[in-house]
Amino acid sequence: MKRQQITVLGATGSIGMSTLDVVSRHPERYAVFALSAQRRIKELAQLCRQYHPQFAVVPDDNARRELLRLVSVDSDCASQLEVLVGEQALADIASAPQVDSVMAAIVGAAGLKSSLAAARAGKRVLLANKESLVCAGELFMQTCRENGASLLPIDSEHNAVFQCLTQLPAPAKLPQVPNGVRKVILTASGGPFRTWSMAAMSEVTPAQACAHPNWAMGQKISVDSASMMNKGLELIEAHYLFGLPASALEVVVHPQSIVHSMVEYADGSVLAQMGNPDMRTPIAQALAYPDRIESGVNTLQLTQIGRLDFEAPDAVRFPCLALAQQAMQIGAAAPCVLNAANEVTVAAFLGKRLRFTDIAQLNARVLERLGQQSAARTFDAVIALDQQARSYAHELIKGRN
Ligand code: NAD
Ligand code: MG
Repeated sequence: MKRQQITVLGATGSIGMSTLDVVSRHPERYAVFALSAQRRIKELAQLCRQYHPQFAVVPDDNARRELLRLVSVDSDCASQLEVLVGEQALADIASAPQVDSVMAAIVGAAGLKSSLAAARAGKRVLLANKESLVCAGELFMQTCRENGASLLPIDSEHNAVFQCLTQLPAPAKLPQVPNGVRKVILTASGGPFRTWSMAAMSEVTPAQACAHPNWAMGQKISVDSASMMNKGLELIEAHYLFGLPASALEVVVHPQSIVHSMVEYADGSVLAQMGNPDMRTPIAQALAYPDRIESGVNTLQLTQIGRLDFEAPDAVRFPCLALAQQAMQIGAAAPCVLNAANEVTVAAFLGKRLRFTDIAQLNARVLERLGQQSAARTFDAVIALDQQARSYAHELIKGRN
């Protein structure tokens, strides 16, 4: 069997590290072609020494010098490693002819350029970067279709839905929703503040917001989970990925995070995908599809878990979810605008410049002001729209302080 050559974008992040953990269990199947990181160059050097990629991409020349110095102690690694710099280099390692699969695990709209490059090159795209679909859903799907790219969802809910669709395309291209699907039900943990009052939520610290009860994730998605913006972004992600209208997409809160999502069929059958909350399961499923491989995830102990609970989401205490639903209904520019605003407000909350409850308030104002524009149909137009929404969000934050 020829080994699959893999590029991991965002290798030092939570998804990047979980991906490399799965890869390390199957050296006969996978080889690491390239790795990227924005920060944590020490960790990147460690990964280079462990996985011996041909390329690494870092943000600037300082980071490049540091990485080269750190790997120089390992002559095997240093002699074959080429270190590239900047955003274009991310697109290059995502589209190089030697590459079979690309794990798109950069956080935020910053991941769009490289994930689009992988799609344009017709790669097998393992998409963790949900923001690509939120800010450029139609463009991204069209690029995959026109270039024969395969798109495999890594987000646990979308991966679960993919597994519950009975007519899976093999070999995988784009996920196809068969006839007879009534609706898709995305589960949400409810995050760390599921039972908290609005008043209590207005006082929370970044550390509290990042302490997710079930999943260990990067900071941005952890805050999004706490505000339930993450579930809103996931509705929009599902809308574009599966081509389903808003009326066929539902959210159910399920605090144990064992059922990762469900598909309901016309005959009343509801198929659910279950497992421990560990991202190595969807990563391994997508890496090996249509095969199944060992992921390192423990056996699900249902008798120890004992019960599975489900409840309706509370749109009053979690206004970000309703905002995302509104953006999905509006379509066109609205999801991109909301995503950009949210990236800025979440960063301000993490930097202690905003209260947690301000995130939804300011996101709403940016969406209201800029969300009614026509859709951005090119990469440059998406970036311009994204920048416009970011500027307005920064302005609002300044006005607040
Ligand atoms: P993270 O913050 O742990 O890691 C992000 C990675 O991207 C790091 O390697 C970082 O260096 C890199 N990066 C950050 N900013 C960058 C930039 N401007 N340019 C280039 N690289 C940059 O994030 P994560 O939790 O691993 O999430 C990654 C993506 O996967 C996000 O889109 C997130 O929504 C999605 N996702 C994550 C999880 C999870 O369990 N962590 C689950 C589902 C989906
Ligand atoms: Mg998810």
